[in-house]
Amino acid sequence: MKHSQKKNPYDIIVIGAGIIGASASLSSARKGYSVLCLDAGPGAGYGSTSGSCAIIRPYYSTIDGSAIAYESHYYWKNWTQHIGVSDEHGLARYVNCGSLVMKTPQNDFLEPACLIMDEIGAPYSHLSADEVCTRLPVNTEAFAPAKNADDPQFGLGNGEHLPGGVMFHSGGYITDPQLATHNIQRAAEAAGAVFSFNTRVTAIEQRAGKINGVSTESGQRYEARAVLNAAGPHSYKINQLAGVEEGMNIKTRALRHEVAHVPAPENFDFENNGCVFSDSDIATYLRPEHGNHILIGSEDPPCDTPQWVDPDDFDRNFSEQWKTLVMRAAQRVPELSIPGQAKGVVELYDVSDDWIPIYDKSDLDGFYMAIGTSGNQFKNAPIVGEMMTNMIEAGLEGRNQDTDPIDFHLKYINRTVNTGFYSRLREVNKESSFSVLG
Ligand SMILES: Cc1cc2nc3c(=O)[nH]c(=O)nc-3n(C[C@H](O)[C@H](O)[C@H](O)COP(=O)(O)OP(=O)(O)OC[C@H]3O[C@@H](n4cnc5c(N)ncnc54)[C@H](O)[C@@H]3O)c2cc1C
Repeated sequence: MKHSQKKNPYDIIVIGAGIIGASASLSSARKGYSVLCLDAGPGAGYGSTSGSCAIIRPYYSTIDGSAIAYESHYYWKNWTQHIGVSDEHGLARYVNCGSLVMKTPQNDFLEPACLIMDEIGAPYSHLSADEVCTRLPVNTEAFAPAKNADDPQFGLGNGEHLPGGVMFHSGGYITDPQLATHNIQRAAEAAGAVFSFNTRVTAIEQRAGKINGVSTESGQRYEARAVLNAAGPHSYKINQLAGVEEGMNIKTRALRHEVAHVPAPENFDFENNGCVFSDSDIATYLRPEHGNHILIGSEDPPCDTPQWVDPDDFDRNFSEQWKTLVMRAAQRVPELSIPGQAKGVVELYDVSDDWIPIYDKSDLDGFYMAIGTSGNQFKNAPIVGEMMTNMIEAGLEGRNQDTDPIDFHLKYINRTVNTGFYSRLREVNKESSFSVLG
């Protein structure tokens, strides 16, 4: 039975007010559940969401991953309707500039990706090498495999040229990921959810093998029928508090990543004429940023040593990784200048063993998780929120997600995904790219 607005006990406590936790709070409150969302930080979206490149694109390595990502394009296009309330900070904007991916041997010249797009009905166009070079100030020389900047072979072509690319039209980026999360907070509050910031969860309370609630650093206790772990890179710490890690086949950990923020070449208006650009030949992705800047991120090539860190103790200064990122991008965009001062973001991904998220229950009755977002789930958060609400609702009604996982209907593209795909008990998904591409 739902008891909307009733405080302590709540129906659902959400740990984390990033884009995932805020979205789950919104959809649960809209369904009439009483929701308390707790975050250790000072506001919504101040965790890893704040550093997100917030790229929207439909291509993932699996059909289900691609279908959800393509669906997300419509949530962002209809953001004003999705939020449904005003926000004193304004609404985040979706720049639907498309996402251009180079055809490379590493991605099988995008043939598998285009087959998936055909299956889910997502639009795309093939671009020849000349068309790519007309669209953007790039060359099509091949440099693979990706190397570190101190490699003597760095920047030397391998003798091949890339044959062109594919423009995925249902792509682009969100101008301000933190603002988008604030929008969701305001919508959730309008639906009755309560947010409490500067509130760190330090214990998961259970009674007779069932969830009972949480305790916070300041000694507050909150009771609930269900608790959702949406703690981003801290997800494994919350799972350890709940004692549920042992029962998971797929686990999560925090991976440090740098994103470079550099001026676009002077003679090209990247902000207005650019697009999202992904290139597995140089293992780099780009997107326009305001002020005619470019954001540059890594696609995790094998030569990069992963920086697994403690999310409470990691270096927020730029390192050689920043320089390598910009130099890799400059192979493709020869007029890119390399600024003397590093600017950008140092943040964490919450990475699962196969870079596919865990959206699931746990072995502790009433304790759920929306974690392991692996650097690629910002776009999907509005859908994930609804999916988690449905899953928790089914659980509260006695359904066992492990033996009878719920289906989730993607309303815009009229397709159904089975949430068993995201189970913590799955075997490592070998179809995954094992990178930020998902
Ligand atoms: C550099 C970077 C680039 C990215 N680029 C893209 C992209 O282009 N496209 C895309 O789709 N995705 C991208 N992502 C991934 C995407 O941003 C994440 O998947 C998403 O933001 C994760 O949201 P979250 O809510 O799970 O985590 P977070 O935003 O980290 O939120 C978790 C919250 O939990 C809180 N918390 C933690 N522990 C506790 C506790 N004990 N008690 C209370 N609160 C707690 C934290 O304070 C935090 O606010 C990127 C990520 C990064 C880091």
